[in-house]
Amino acid sequence: MNKKIRVRFAPSPTGALHIGGLRTALYNYLFAKKYNGDFILRIEDTDIKRNIKKSINYILKTLKWCKIKYNEGFHKKGKYCPYIQSKRIFIYKKYLKKLINNNFAYYSFETKQELNIYKTKYKNFIYNSLTRNKLKNSLTLNSTLTKKYIKNKNYVIRLKTPTNYNIIFYDKVYGQIKINTNEIDDKILFRSDSTPTYHLASVIDDHIMKISHIIRGKEWISSTPIHILIYNYFNWNLPNFVHLPLILNDIGGKISKRLNYNDSVPIYPINSKHFNIKNSYKKKGFLPKAFINIISLLGWSPNANKEIYTFNNIIKLFDLNNISKKDVHLNYKKFCWINKQYINNSNSHFIDNILLKFLKKKINNKKIKTIYLKKIIKLTKNRISLINDIWNVSYYFFINPIQFNIPNYISLFIKKKYTEILFFFNQIILFFKKKKKKKEIEIFLNKISNIIYLKLLRISLVGKLIGINMLYILSLINNKIIINRINYFLKQIIIK
Ligand code: GLU
Repeated sequence: MNKKIRVRFAPSPTGALHIGGLRTALYNYLFAKKYNGDFILRIEDTDIKRNIKKSINYILKTLKWCKIKYNEGFHKKGKYCPYIQSKRIFIYKKYLKKLINNNFAYYSFETKQELNIYKTKYKNFIYNSLTRNKLKNSLTLNSTLTKKYIKNKNYVIRLKTPTNYNIIFYDKVYGQIKINTNEIDDKILFRSDSTPTYHLASVIDDHIMKISHIIRGKEWISSTPIHILIYNYFNWNLPNFVHLPLILNDIGGKISKRLNYNDSVPIYPINSKHFNIKNSYKKKGFLPKAFINIISLLGWSPNANKEIYTFNNIIKLFDLNNISKKDVHLNYKKFCWINKQYINNSNSHFIDNILLKFLKKKINNKKIKTIYLKKIIKLTKNRISLINDIWNVSYYFFINPIQFNIPNYISLFIKKKYTEILFFFNQIILFFKKKKKKKEIEIFLNKISNIIYLKLLRISLVGKLIGINMLYILSLINNKIIINRINYFLKQIIIK
């Protein structure tokens, strides 16, 4: 490759950044990094009605959390400033004028209602060379009427597509793609509210900003022929096109910002009147490094039977040739599995601190010694996949059970061996009256030969048959609390 690699992530600030958007950002970043290129962040906010105020900030925060750094773009100085399209309207207008003057674009005057009538009247109605000669536009109306409509701002500006012309282009992933202009619309380039559409603004910016490769989701592949026409009308060189496979949710549907499947969950939590997002991958307890690893494998694979890669490794291995054509299905279980590998294998000091912070928050910073929390973390963290799971595997160290989940066979046993059970628990209470060393507890536990008694003991302390080894539970929970829990259990369940 001899030309400088320049790629961009060009989100529209219309909502939360979810997995699809982040994958596009990541693949652009990886490609730029690998070839020492530039990675640009450009905000495409020309569709005023769809913009949501806090989205830009949200996008920035998400990229930051994932450590996807752009070296040029929004909020940064650069040769092609500003990197937000609403501040570049004057540029688009200048280029648009050229298109109109060269007869590559024209004014169209139909109202929305009129267009809707055509759409219901004629099946598969398309506004293009096959129909526009009979419609209301600057190509068919006389100049006085045309001027009047323009003056009253009752117009949109459309791209004039040629008749029956094959647009052929090569996509790095999907190969050669051919489309006939009779099948495509004269796309709107400029709206009646004086804003450019995505098609116009993004092509102009990609050209001006010298973008070498356009890497984006497959949902944009149908827009590419339109963009190619614009490039051709301006006589500009084409960039390389790389479309990424669709990401489907775990039930096979399209991912969306609105649905509440795991896939549509945003990455970074944000609260605003538009979002009402209580959930996010960050909040669920994914680690950013693990998350990058997860996202990197959504459509690309380094041809190896391995799933865990460091960020640097991913950069080294990343290759557009290994992007799959096939749509990718989200596999949340696999996400969790990858996160678990990071929790288990990262520097334990780093992970323990995150878990410690999480637990402290969860127990409302109650005066529990850090050293105690650290012990609990050490004993339980191998059971979790997500940071937040630490609570599910350790809550019983902090909360006394008030309800008990007792399997039938144990209930039957309680009925049958009532006296023996009482005797058993009394012995335990006696044993814990005095402080005990771990070794003593171990010997005491070893003497309990009937496993069902051990299960009863566990239920009395934890509430159900879950949790780590009894020896650790008994040596970590304070004696008084052990006795209280047992007494409560006896009152609720045994001596009813
Ligand atoms: N602004 C478009 C979006 O929101 C970008 C599409 C492209 O990358 O060309 O996804």
